[in-house]
Amino acid sequence: MSPTELSADLLHASDRTSLSKDSFKRAFIDNLFYTQGKFLQVATHKDYYQALAYTVRDRLLYRWVSTATAYTGQVSRTVSYLSAEFLMGPSLGNTLINLGILDEVRQAVGELGLDLTDLLDQEAEPGLGNGGLGRLAACFIDSLATLELPALGYGIRYEHGIFYQTIVDGWQVENTDNWLRYGNPWEIRRPEWSVEVKIGGFTETYTDTEDRHRVRWVPAKTVVGVPFDSPIPGYRVNTANTLRLWSAEATQSFDFEVFNRGDYLGAVNKKVTSENLTKILYPNDETPQGKELRLEQQYFFVACSLHDMIRILKGQGGSIERFHEKFAVQLNDTHPAIGVAELMRILVDDYLLPWNDAWSITTQTFGYTNHTLLPEALERWPLDLFRRLLPRHLELIFEINERFLHDVRVAFLGDEARVRALSLIDETGERYVRMAHLATVGSHAVNGVATLHSDLLKKDVLADFYALSPQKFHSITNGVTPRRWLALANPRLCELFRETIGDGWAKELDQLRRLERHADDAAFAERWRAIKLDNKRQLADLIVQRTGIEVDPESMFDVQVKRIHEYKRQHLAVLQIIAMYHRLKSDPNAEVLPRTFIFSGKAAPGYAIAKLMIRLITAIGDVINYDPEVRGRLKVVFMPNFSVTTGQRIYPGADLSEQISLAGKEASGTGNMKFAMNGALTIGTMDGANIEICEEVGSDNFFTFGMTAAQVEERRRAGYDPREVIEANPELHAVVELIRNGLFSRGDTELFKPIIDGLLWHDTYMLAADYASYSDCQLEVDRAYRDTARWTRMSILNVARSGKFSSDRSIQEYADKIWKVTPVSVPLL
Ligand SMILES: *Cc1c(COP(=O)(O)O)cnc(C)c1O
Repeated sequence: MSPTELSADLLHASDRTSLSKDSFKRAFIDNLFYTQGKFLQVATHKDYYQALAYTVRDRLLYRWVSTATAYTGQVSRTVSYLSAEFLMGPSLGNTLINLGILDEVRQAVGELGLDLTDLLDQEAEPGLGNGGLGRLAACFIDSLATLELPALGYGIRYEHGIFYQTIVDGWQVENTDNWLRYGNPWEIRRPEWSVEVKIGGFTETYTDTEDRHRVRWVPAKTVVGVPFDSPIPGYRVNTANTLRLWSAEATQSFDFEVFNRGDYLGAVNKKVTSENLTKILYPNDETPQGKELRLEQQYFFVACSLHDMIRILKGQGGSIERFHEKFAVQLNDTHPAIGVAELMRILVDDYLLPWNDAWSITTQTFGYTNHTLLPEALERWPLDLFRRLLPRHLELIFEINERFLHDVRVAFLGDEARVRALSLIDETGERYVRMAHLATVGSHAVNGVATLHSDLLKKDVLADFYALSPQKFHSITNGVTPRRWLALANPRLCELFRETIGDGWAKELDQLRRLERHADDAAFAERWRAIKLDNKRQLADLIVQRTGIEVDPESMFDVQVKRIHEYKRQHLAVLQIIAMYHRLKSDPNAEVLPRTFIFSGKAAPGYAIAKLMIRLITAIGDVINYDPEVRGRLKVVFMPNFSVTTGQRIYPGADLSEQISLAGKEASGTGNMKFAMNGALTIGTMDGANIEICEEVGSDNFFTFGMTAAQVEERRRAGYDPREVIEANPELHAVVELIRNGLFSRGDTELFKPIIDGLLWHDTYMLAADYASYSDCQLEVDRAYRDTARWTRMSILNVARSGKFSSDRSIQEYADKIWKVTPVSVPLL
């Protein structure tokens, strides 16, 4: 019997991965004994969680192995999703949902005297991302598996993910995240597929034994990338794809060499230095730091991933000339854009392909997703730093650029301004490599993440590229996975879905439309409200537990959760809250609807104004929450440490979703989608995907305010003076004065001066210009909320019409328009 037959035989002979309750309980106890080394009487909740995770993982591995077998047998086109961030959230609950065994497992552990919810709470969140971009990657790999598309997610296994935020004296304090402390049952280390990566050094030319002129890269050091694989199960399908994250380790050979020279500590030091590479995630969202280690991280994971793809291709007997037929590689923003130069290096230097052939393979391989319109967020690397780390890649980029700019000169005769604008090298001052240009030139498809964003890319950020090759440009609106953001996060609402429309919605979110028929059904509306109230009670419990602040679940929960950033305008919401407070204080009988304002989000550690915005939010809470005159009317809370886990508890408990970025600044947003599908109504600007949410749910069921992106442009051109606007608006003026005079800082007029000065002298994000419109719109929200039947109807319609915002729809569009991949159904072994 061959080893293959033997293992398949054993799989069938045993019931160790059966889904029956008895075998599940048995396996759980086995894992507690033989993996954790504990027995029921002394085990902690952590032990139970680990035992449960291993038990579930075994059931998952069966699908994983079956999937790998199916993919190896078929040479189908595979998606490689390259992302420096994957903000996955905890795995256990999601896995139970996708395998369809949540209820059975809850019952099985219940019979052992354990509560599944307690065990789910034990899992440390792998916070391997900053926010929206990393979370998008996580939703996308869930959808890829659910749609049964052959795919690999490639990224970095940071030892420390995004920092853990605490609030001390009202300020953000960053604590190191240590998600691997108790081990990670969801990963498997695969040292046999390690990759050696070269870094630094210099290049030299030589003539090889066959008399060919070649270039050799002599690196300053090499680092080993070790892959850690996690299974990504699709929803109720046999497919379980792989998320492959690379961890840096020292090379064995290098250690030895130094060791033999007697420098033991030097060798150990080298080892530590190598391993630093994947130690930490850079906590900057939207504003990249030009840090050497970050470029090293980017190159490291991209080089490992491309090498891995070639190993897979070769394993299937494919030739390198067909690389692009086997792999569709998607660049999640420019973080992996160095892949364009790396693939060229491999094809030209290692495989000796002619330049044009190599370039054709490369451009047919890559697709690039742009995520931002903020100019300061576009990645660029100082030339010297780039050369120091990647000398060969810089030469190749120069060559790519020379050929590309020749084409530009031919396309735009005599237009040297256009040549400078399009160049991969920024030469306006200090010289930089422009990563967005490298990604655009090296890809056959470039896409924005919402309709407005894609239009602005064509008009603005990448306008010259659009003029040159309009056929490259696509628009694919982002989405979120309904498995995590509905099935897992909002079980009560999903139970109502199940009773009303069945459970096909989890795979075909458009089926939520069937709820529309019930929008005017009073009994249905009653249940809808009861579910929201339950979710709000749970959220209120969490709030008091995390902040000590008691909030009333009967008040409107008005929520803004996302990274803290000036363009997202948390401070616009703050101005409005202070105005409401001022109104109440001036007239205790003023008609102000009881509201609880809930904020959450992390600020980049070096982003002083963002951190000050957190301080301002906590400061107004400290005044308003303890003022007996407004008791029962207004509360302001800042929930520490916004994450996937806290998000799962916040979105379902929201009544109102604040999506108030300055129009033209938020590429898409995905938080807006999670809120809408959980029945919150949106108050938002015509920005990013807000526009499409408004279109889908209908403008009667959406609160819009503020300037459009076009009006923002116009207003700026006309010369915008915030002080003029503030002077002309007595309410806004009063609010600014209250902050300025120290009401929220115990008389300290310095503390919030940077925010006030920013508002008065620059107001880059035009709060003043949108203030009146926002304030009026909030009054409209008040009116709608007072009419309970109307509000409930609006809420039902928001959910019913949110089908477009499933990441399944996004992924289907990528598959059809960009990747040209088709599903592979997986038979179980
Ligand atoms: C969805 C999500 C985001 C993105 O939120 P936006 O409102 O789109 O900025 C950020 N962080 C986490 C943890 C999320 O779940």
